[in-house]
Amino acid sequence: MAGCKDCNVFQFCKCLRLLGNVMILVVLGLVALSYYPIVVSIYGPVLFDPKATVGQQVGAAFVVVWFHILGGLMLWSYFAAILTCPGHVPDGFRPDVDPEENPEAPVDKSDPRRPRFCRKCQKWKPERAHHCSICGKCVLRMDHHCVWVMNCVGERNYKFFFLFLLYTFLLSLMSMLALLPYFSEFFGGNGGEADDHPANLAVSFMAFVVDIAFSLSLCGFIVMHAKLVAANCTTIEMFEKERIKPWPYDQGLRKNIEEVFGTYWPMWLVPMHSEGQCTSEERIRLRSV
Ligand SMILES: [Zn+2]
Ligand SMILES: [Zn+2]
Repeated sequence: MAGCKDCNVFQFCKCLRLLGNVMILVVLGLVALSYYPIVVSIYGPVLFDPKATVGQQVGAAFVVVWFHILGGLMLWSYFAAILTCPGHVPDGFRPDVDPEENPEAPVDKSDPRRPRFCRKCQKWKPERAHHCSICGKCVLRMDHHCVWVMNCVGERNYKFFFLFLLYTFLLSLMSMLALLPYFSEFFGGNGGEADDHPANLAVSFMAFVVDIAFSLSLCGFIVMHAKLVAANCTTIEMFEKERIKPWPYDQGLRKNIEEVFGTYWPMWLVPMHSEGQCTSEERIRLRSV
């Protein structure tokens, strides 16, 4: 029975890994789905249309420029989240209080800071680290394994994951608002450009529906992660936090934000590592032999 269960878990993890490879195409396809109607078929041509008014051209330039800025930042954050190692446990790491050497040491099972050992990795786990069965490794300050980024979200790439959510939300919201006047004009009986191109209308409508769905669902997800950042908590620790009061990692709003986004605020929205981030990783490295 145990062998069969192991086999199912293995199959499940393999399926998730394969699904991850498809996700990158899904994300790129979603960007292209909005790019085509907004930049190629609706707003781009206005820039070169001699019949368009200055007001229309300025409006079209605003939409096209912001689409490229948000799209660029979204893809940058996305690939940073995929390609950055989430943070693994260094070889030779030993907890502050090693129960093997000091069996008298107080070990409170409800304390998240207690020394824990990973039987799969045969290594000690630092505080807030968890084993990911899909990656097959322990991940520092693990949040969750994300199929969209084909990677674990942990200490080193949580900022990129959060910015990916934020920029995808802003891009979907902007695309939805940019397509709104086009549809109100079309369904208002004025016809518009779409009359001549039924294929363009179909793509624009599909993009509009997908943008509404994404902006609504991502809004809830961003609020949830913003609350987690503000409280210095991870998705895995959410239930633990309800039990443990006061939460031992809460250092106040500003410090909690800095732990994820860095101490230099102009870099908070840039998908790059900045000073003051990943402080626990440095501490863990110092404690490793
Ligand atoms: Zn492990
Ligand atoms: Zn993982």
